[in-house]
Amino acid sequence: LKPGAPSDARVALRTDTGRTDTGRTDRGRTWTYADLWRTAGRMAHVLHEAGVGPGNRVAVQVAKSPEAVCLYLAVLQLGAIYLPLNTAYTLAELRYFLDDAEPAVFVGQTPVVGDLVPPAGCRTFTLDPDGEGTVTAACHGRPPWERVAEVSPDEVAAILYTSGTTGRPKGAMISHGNLAFGTRTLNALWGISEADVLLHALPIFHAHGLFIALNSMLYAGASSVFLPKFTANAVIEHLPHSTVFMGVPTLYTRLLADPRLARERCGTMRLFTCGSAPLSREIFEAFEARTGHRILERYGMTETTIIASNPLDGERLPGTVGYPLPGLEVRVVDAAGQPQPAGTVGGLELRGPNVFKGYWRMPEKTAAEFRPDGFFMTGDLARAAPDGRLSLVSRAKEIIISGGYNVYPREVEIVLNRIEGVSETAVFGVPHPDFGEGVVAAVERQPGCESLDPAAMLARAARELAGYKLPKALIVQDALPRNAMGKVLKNELSSLHKDVFRKRDATG
Ligand code: ATP
Ligand code: MG
Repeated sequence: LKPGAPSDARVALRTDTGRTDTGRTDRGRTWTYADLWRTAGRMAHVLHEAGVGPGNRVAVQVAKSPEAVCLYLAVLQLGAIYLPLNTAYTLAELRYFLDDAEPAVFVGQTPVVGDLVPPAGCRTFTLDPDGEGTVTAACHGRPPWERVAEVSPDEVAAILYTSGTTGRPKGAMISHGNLAFGTRTLNALWGISEADVLLHALPIFHAHGLFIALNSMLYAGASSVFLPKFTANAVIEHLPHSTVFMGVPTLYTRLLADPRLARERCGTMRLFTCGSAPLSREIFEAFEARTGHRILERYGMTETTIIASNPLDGERLPGTVGYPLPGLEVRVVDAAGQPQPAGTVGGLELRGPNVFKGYWRMPEKTAAEFRPDGFFMTGDLARAAPDGRLSLVSRAKEIIISGGYNVYPREVEIVLNRIEGVSETAVFGVPHPDFGEGVVAAVERQPGCESLDPAAMLARAARELAGYKLPKALIVQDALPRNAMGKVLKNELSSLHKDVFRKRDATG
């Protein structure tokens, strides 16, 4: 992004011409790399004058916009720490994160900044979805900040909070070295080049949309069509002039629900990727039938960005997350930390240049997740094929122990997902008077499908699953609770249904 670079005149971002979050019509703005550099430099100047320097946190809770990208780049340029926050957080949640992070500056949207009493020593600016706000106003007349802070690969570039699927989000400290390794490796693996046009429909407060989608495009000098948020309509509209789309399973489900998704619209597309949550074989196959594209599934975590990917050239297998990235050491171990042979399920651990520096202000939690030899315990259970290809089985925390038997929820979900009319299933455990934990399935029905009969579904599942794995309660719902990345919140489901067996007991 240095001025004078050959990519200066190239288009970095193009915004949608649809309606923005505020209801205003976006003019469909085009930002070259030189534009990004100039605005980022001006913002760096403003932040520097506000006292931001190396090591300071800049917390940001703003809508997705080109100016928000500039803010991110400005923070990195100053050697400060970028700390993006989910735009859905309420004022009370936001306050918790600000107290935790103690940022030098907070940039938020006007109504939030108006209501917020910031922590002592924290200056505030505004940035609204249309790109206007006190931070952009302060840029007027300011020359871009020319200096790029010298940072070592080991210094923290960003603190990203995890998705909060299993509990309160944790702040993962990501270094400049982590970002450089991840971006270079991924771009080589997926062949990302300046010829690519990414249809960017993910939020940018999360590792997937920020580090995987945005960083890889900026690093390659490619262009992104920058949708303020995902709508099937906008994605289908922009497919015919894009080359890459990065999604999560629910986005693919929503695209498939639109009858206009068809092979003819995907003529320029070369790559559809999916991550953040397990992609079902049903979605994979339905998408291939409709578009001719086999979705490339990959696996990562906030703490490690990307860990494994199906191959660009070569067999993309549904139900697997592909091979570990080159340069990583990956092992599957038993509870005692002993490496397991191929085919055996165990805890997935890794070591390498993509592993984060620890959780912000949680030294004990950090220590508990690392082995003495430096391997990071992902908390995911996996199985490796003899050639190294990985399949994720479950999160360790989600294993259900029912009557002394281990049940992997994913195994049950895969069987139930195959039943016609089922959109997605979440299997989890809740207290059971006889078995310790009882297996429960919450089933999301496909829109318009009224005919799901729990008894018939269980009878179907019984043909494939041992009795102890069968759900003892099956609840059909219109929608499962999900977080911003479309991940099903099993914590919420298990507390909602925690009395399902107790009640049943009381009523006989
Ligand atoms: P928290 O750590 O706060 O509970 P989270 O683990 O969902 O939330 P992220 O870092 O966003 O937060 O998600 C990483 C997790 O997402 C992985 O550990 C894994 O369980 C899951 N995941 C990512 N990609 C895939 C995939 N392709 N298939 C299955 N699971 C995946
Ligand atoms: Mg996690």
